Amino acid sequence: MIVTISLRSWRRHWRLAAAAAILAVALPAWWRDVHAGSRGGSNPHLVWYVKTKQKVAALTFDDGPSPTATPKILNILAAHHARATFFVLGQAARQYPEIVRQEARAGMEIGNHTYAHINLKLHSKEQDAEDLKHTQKLVGKIIGRAPDLMRPPYGAYDASVITVAHQLKLKVVLWSWTEDSKDWTNPGVSSIVSRVVNHIQPGDIVLFHDGGGNRDQTVAALPLILNDLTAMGYRLVTVSQLLTYSAPQPVVRRRQGELVPTERVAATKTIIGCRGHCR
Ligand SMILES: [Zn+2]
Repeated sequence: MIVTISLRSWRRHWRLAAAAAILAVALPAWWRDVHAGSRGGSNPHLVWYVKTKQKVAALTFDDGPSPTATPKILNILAAHHARATFFVLGQAARQYPEIVRQEARAGMEIGNHTYAHINLKLHSKEQDAEDLKHTQKLVGKIIGRAPDLMRPPYGAYDASVITVAHQLKLKVVLWSWTEDSKDWTNPGVSSIVSRVVNHIQPGDIVLFHDGGGNRDQTVAALPLILNDLTAMGYRLVTVSQLLTYSAPQPVVRRRQGELVPTERVAATKTIIGCRGHCR
């Protein structure tokens, strides 16, 4: 009788211990996924953020260049030794080519945001390709180098948009879900600052606008954001620079009998939102 009871008790404890062990493994993984999910999705063809432990982030500005906001933004970035990426509209770049040249001379990265802010999803593959190619050529003529990155207006994409961008060797870059400053709604300077600073994580991509309306609030918020992020230890880099910060992969893979260096393996996995599912 005594033996039976202790056996039952042992079984009960064993089950409890097993449950605790499963929880101990599953909970941190679940938490990591929840955490990662707040920064972007898991489509391997899109860049939402870069997985890194280093305190680096990329500020991005869409819809410019604008003759009123962009030069002020460039001055603020220079004063804080910060780099950023400008996703320009072809038509605005054609109107203000000197500002695009200023951006490039200041070490900023220029990305393609279509010619006239079209919703690429609503057009055919051929029309999308035509628009992106036209903007690539135009920016190439202005700064001597066509962009490596594109951001679809409204963040609107589908498989066709991704395919077209891929065919043009353009990386599709969105932004970390918690890092949409919503500056285009003019919500007030402190709202823009807190949206960006309160949720920033290493590897994040932050969304601002330097065109498409009055950007006084963006201009006023930017020095405060840069002061806070710098005090937190962040370095602000371009998106292409950020991509080189992806966490190094421990395995060196073989491709067609040839060893692929770790950095190159890491670079191919700089796919934001991967969350370990796209290996
Ligand atoms: Zn836009």
